[in-house]
Amino acid sequence: MDNIHPIFDRLLQREDREKLLNQKAKVLWLTGLSGSGKSTIAQALERELFNKGFFAQVLDGDNIRSGINSNLGFSIEDRKENIRRIAEIAKLYLNSGIITINSFISPTRDIRTFAKSIVGEDDFIEIYINTPIEICEARDVKGLYRKARNGEIKGFTGIDSPYENPIQPALEIRTENQDVQESVNNILNYILPIIKTN
Ligand code: ADP
Repeated sequence: MDNIHPIFDRLLQREDREKLLNQKAKVLWLTGLSGSGKSTIAQALERELFNKGFFAQVLDGDNIRSGINSNLGFSIEDRKENIRRIAEIAKLYLNSGIITINSFISPTRDIRTFAKSIVGEDDFIEIYINTPIEICEARDVKGLYRKARNGEIKGFTGIDSPYENPIQPALEIRTENQDVQESVNNILNYILPIIKTN
């Protein structure tokens, strides 16, 4: 007898899950200095997307560095392994139809190219949270710049470890003269047409 439900004959695909969730999955990769506003924007964006009926998940230091990557430090090799695992996790979410908002400094072009190669070029949306270091340092949300200046932290991005700005990000957000809501709206304007199904 012919199977009237041919979908049961094959493994579920990402497209099936996206259809269920009524969205197109993407990886939103926020990069920028410590204190540039990545986490604040990521969390506000996650909330806005949720309110609009999208299924999105922030990946950040709190849920990645403290858990699956708790054995990694901040050497060049460990930063690369950190990003490799994050990109692999984002890809699992992607294949589950879920939008991830990745909030990590990801300081070098090399490291972001690496992440993009794991996720896949078509699904990787690089968003540069561009805030001058003077402003990040003045904000000093976690007191880390002060510690880095005192030499209590070594290899701090922007102080004694490089940050390479993205050359052609999909989107650049300048937070110095805008509030969080404006920054979030700028990202929404860009991504909504991409993640909507109709
Ligand atoms: P990061 O995650 O990049 O280290 P945080 O989000 O922890 O940075 O800190 C950014 C700080 O800057 C917060 O205190 C936030 O309130 C402030 N801020 C001011 N303007 C903005 C903006 N437009 N977008 C994001 N954060 C902003």
